[in-house]
Amino acid sequence: MQILEKTSKFARFGGPIQLASNALATIKGIDEGVFERVMSKFTFTGTRMNGIKDGIRTEWYTKFEAITKLAEYFKLPYTGVIDRPDLQEIMLEEVGGDKTVRTDSTFQSFEQLPNNEGVRVTLADGTVVEADILVGCDGIWSAVRSQLWNEPAKGPDSGCTYSGYTCFAADTVQRTDYYFDVGYQVYIGPGKYFVTSDVGRGRTQWYAFLALPPGSKSRASNKEYLYDLFSKGKEGRWTDELFKVLDATPDDAIEQRDLYDRPPSVLKPWSKGHVTLMGDAVHPMMPNLGQGGGQAIEDAYVLAERLGALKSRSQIPGALTGFYLSRLPRTAIVQGLSRIASDLIVSAFDTPFQVPPLSWSSKCRARGRDASPATPCPGPGGAPSRAASWASCLPAGRPACALPPAPCSRDAPLTPLAVADSSDGASRDYSTNRTSRDGSTPGTGRWEGRGGSTTSSRRRSNPSCPESSTRNSGTSTPSRPSSAQRRRSTASLTRL
Ligand SMILES: Cc1cc2nc3c(=O)[nH]c(=O)nc-3n(C[C@H](O)[C@H](O)[C@H](O)COP(=O)(O)OP(=O)(O)OC[C@H]3O[C@@H](n4cnc5c(N)ncnc54)[C@H](O)[C@@H]3O)c2cc1C
Repeated sequence: MQILEKTSKFARFGGPIQLASNALATIKGIDEGVFERVMSKFTFTGTRMNGIKDGIRTEWYTKFEAITKLAEYFKLPYTGVIDRPDLQEIMLEEVGGDKTVRTDSTFQSFEQLPNNEGVRVTLADGTVVEADILVGCDGIWSAVRSQLWNEPAKGPDSGCTYSGYTCFAADTVQRTDYYFDVGYQVYIGPGKYFVTSDVGRGRTQWYAFLALPPGSKSRASNKEYLYDLFSKGKEGRWTDELFKVLDATPDDAIEQRDLYDRPPSVLKPWSKGHVTLMGDAVHPMMPNLGQGGGQAIEDAYVLAERLGALKSRSQIPGALTGFYLSRLPRTAIVQGLSRIASDLIVSAFDTPFQVPPLSWSSKCRARGRDASPATPCPGPGGAPSRAASWASCLPAGRPACALPPAPCSRDAPLTPLAVADSSDGASRDYSTNRTSRDGSTPGTGRWEGRGGSTTSSRRRSNPSCPESSTRNSGTSTPSRPSSAQRRRSTASLTRL
């Protein structure tokens, strides 16, 4: 197996990434050792209070308790975050480092060889490489997809469309009195939303999602721009919690990125002959659900499983077709949900939250049922919304019916887990919602449902988490592959 990577070397950059329960269980299914290494660098958010808050009044609209309860019910690892460089370093070492990953190797084109002899790949520097299978896992602007589907990798004809949202992001260190209780909070308000998440070691990662046209990047100060946007809108000044995060963030740490995705690739096959696609190359999605990486990890598992069952090269095209057909429904659903989540957040909630009077809700429902493409429901301010939801039809200026604030209940007690924190000498538990403020029990890595209580950074097995643990929702429910399958699972280019 060889992985062709266009960058010249591994560099530590990039913020934390959420690995939800499904992604973690799949990593565990691929390799227990990798899973344990991930756990050793992991911060749990799925054990704490997560949910949606009113961006102006700071009150909780809803809490996502299902994230914790489902993990416990299915005995899956709790959702959490890990720094991307840590994850990449672990993956890189586990696949064999330089022996497997060829840097400075930019894929340019492929040629399918006759008689099931495989694929010939030409790199940008003219080097030719041959293999049985080419797996295009080269991201949203995939050059492999471009050739496979005969369309440009980027631009209006590439099939990748601007989502309507641009995203500002950074991480910072701030001290809040809710740090140990809250995982992530989505602050919502008209036309934009702001997300903060604990990402371990005292850090808070944040995103500001704004509905702006693409290419809106040129400005002197991102920080001032966000300050103005969140303080001078018609809805008034947003919550102080948001401004405290901004205050603690240096201006030059804030990055802006326009968000693109694709609709599910139902008609165009992911695989042809000995070439297939996976990950963002074929199903890039909006980051709202934190599932893009998770779906790529699931792809890898299922692909390895299919390839591991092969007896001869002639079975490869069928196996690749089986792979993508089994992944298509699930990834399409997650892609779709990720896509409409932004629209729903921006269109369906108002501030203060208002329940539509019955006449309006039934009118909108009827409109949704009978809606013809010629009369799309406008979003707030008349802007067309991509969410096909009756909620996006609510009129501006409808009668107010503010809900009382939701009760702010604390989570049920959880088994303690601690991670040593050296920043101020106090022993803190930055990984779960329980704080060892008394300085006791530093350690790492409780990941399983409430039944377990072990705290160990290198635990090899746990009876409360069966290996077939990816049964949360999948149309593809991977079982554990052999070690040979595992080796192939991260393959970009593989020789059977
Ligand atoms: C703001 C934001 C937040 C996100 N948060 C989350 C999250 O919390 N959880 C989550 O699961 N997902 C998240 N995602 C999505 C996640 O980052 C992607 O889904 C994931 O990185 C896709 O992995 P991939 O391997 O398919 O593609 P990529 O990560 O894009 O990797 C592609 C690789 O291919 C290489 N490459 C590209 N072209 C070539 C070529 N021609 N030749 C050789 N090599 C090439 C690139 O250098 C790169 O190393 C987020 C995305 C965004 C934008």
